[in-house]
Amino acid sequence: MTEIGTGLPFDGDKLKEECGIFAIHGHAEAAAHAALGLHALQHRGQEAAGIVSFDGEHFHSHRAVGLIGDIFGRKSVIDGLPGHAAIGHARYATTGASMLRNVQPLFADFAFGGLAVAHNGNLTNAMVLRRRLVEEGCLFQSTTDTEVIVHLIARSRRQNIVARVVDALREIDGAWSLVAVFADGILGGRDPLGVRPLVLGRLDEAWILASETCALDIIGAEFVRDVEPGEIVIIDRNGLKSLRPFAPRPHRFCIFEYVYFARPDSMVEGRGVYEVRKRIGAELARESAVPADVVVPVPDSGVPAAIGYAQESGLPFELGIIRNHYVGRTFIEPSDSIRHLGVKLKHNANRASLAGKRVVLVDDSIVRGTTSTKIVNMVRAAGATEVHMRIASPPTTHSCFYGVDTPERSKLLAARHTVEEMAGIIGVDSLAFLSIDGLYRAVGEARRDHAVPQYCDACFTGDYPTRLADLEGELGGRQMTFLLEDA
Ligand code: AMP
Repeated sequence: MTEIGTGLPFDGDKLKEECGIFAIHGHAEAAAHAALGLHALQHRGQEAAGIVSFDGEHFHSHRAVGLIGDIFGRKSVIDGLPGHAAIGHARYATTGASMLRNVQPLFADFAFGGLAVAHNGNLTNAMVLRRRLVEEGCLFQSTTDTEVIVHLIARSRRQNIVARVVDALREIDGAWSLVAVFADGILGGRDPLGVRPLVLGRLDEAWILASETCALDIIGAEFVRDVEPGEIVIIDRNGLKSLRPFAPRPHRFCIFEYVYFARPDSMVEGRGVYEVRKRIGAELARESAVPADVVVPVPDSGVPAAIGYAQESGLPFELGIIRNHYVGRTFIEPSDSIRHLGVKLKHNANRASLAGKRVVLVDDSIVRGTTSTKIVNMVRAAGATEVHMRIASPPTTHSCFYGVDTPERSKLLAARHTVEEMAGIIGVDSLAFLSIDGLYRAVGEARRDHAVPQYCDACFTGDYPTRLADLEGELGGRQMTFLLEDA
């Protein structure tokens, strides 16, 4: 028996999502390629996944909870998704029992025919729109932002499908990279700020859209270019067409994609993520060098920055912590108590590299402080004489409302404590974070003007690039002040 909802009015408790999206058009084995692409994007979401294909006459869908390999590993599943066009979605979400109905792509039968959509990002006015749509008579089947887009498409008066989708997208705020499949072809687009990534690729005659280039590499496709912020690309039997239907806005790509989220072998917005992370480590070494014997990364997320730190400082790089790769990301665990266990399951100290040493420990970020506290204890227990923690990003002081799952502000260690207090809580001899200017230098752009940053860096600065309509409506002025004011 599956729980499918509550008897209560919708309380606005929508899902938080980190996701990977993929679309392919013009390939006889579209679904098999989509499954491989999603497998390469697994790091963007590990809880559930889906593929919708179109065979020229019918749409086919398979969606389930679990990892891509488990869901799409069987030939019979792929055989059930025939057609030359397919889109897919890998998702992370924090809900429990009623999850399956939220798994994307979402398919709907519109007046013009079927269309399925998959979305990465988070809308900041989804609840406001949803309330309006429900009052107007829309029946929602899920609690995802994406379904708001589906209803907006259905309500557009335009004749043309693409025009309807654009109409819908004009109403939404926040971060969205999305792909859709319909009878004529596929479509992909990015919000005008370009917060989340989306790239375009080619495999023989087929066109591909994917969150990251690692999803092109896995199928041997060639990287063509990034889909531009505010651009909509439509791919049908006549080839590719590009539209720019929105007023241009300054681009604000998510800087946290470089710090943590994207895979290091991906090219994002013209830059190799691995190289950026190494430069971040080098900046960190220049900003906060400390006498030590070894540089040790918290694997895997701290590895490239630790290499950069070691190269810049001239200290030896050692794998002082070994990660068990058969455990998912720590963040997948929903409750704090299980997250603690997750860290123990995931990492173990490598005594030989730590005993008797002064250790520089490098990780990408501190969110709640759970990982760092555990790792530091582990490193000390393995005989390190000093532990100096170096973090490859500025303090995470603000929640993300654009698709990276961060806890509410009150749970962010850096929102409550100074760096010195954090050092005491984590139990290190010294703690230093990369400065925001250092981070901008590492991605290759000096922060031109502090009033107008070139990236979305809200998690570090509280400078949110869009209105947060849902939050304003939900909380009112007083609590908003705590959520958004500078720490
Ligand atoms: P915490 O233990 O709460 O301080 O989380 C910090 C650890 O989680 C770091 O090792 C990061 O690599 C990782 N991390 C940071 N942000 C995220 C995120 N949005 N999703 C998953 N993991 C994250």
